[in-house]
Amino acid sequence: MNISREYDRIIPKKCPVCGSQRDNLTYEPVGRDKTRTAIYVSCEKCLASIVFFITQNEMGIITMGVLTDVNAREAKNFFGATPVSDDDIIDMYEYLNDFSGATGDICNLK
Ligand SMILES: [Zn+2]
Repeated sequence: MNISREYDRIIPKKCPVCGSQRDNLTYEPVGRDKTRTAIYVSCEKCLASIVFFITQNEMGIITMGVLTDVNAREAKNFFGATPVSDDDIIDMYEYLNDFSGATGDICNLK
């Protein structure tokens, strides 16, 4: 996905939390594939962090920002991660259903 031409239109010019101008924002690409780009934006003034997901399809360009408490490195890891499957959810349900309290070995998932 080539976003360089649309850069100024897509990337936020102000912090969505405090309204601080672009000079107080840092931008770091955290992921990119054929259809989407993720950019991590942090604000020096209010310390907010937002991940912007930019998707391009036949309808145009869609940008969605999500406030986050992860850092840029963690956001990079999430971008390439395998999605949670139905089996993962069932395993977690069964684990929690059988869980009777902390015993010192609370992270024994397979
Ligand atoms: Zn801010």
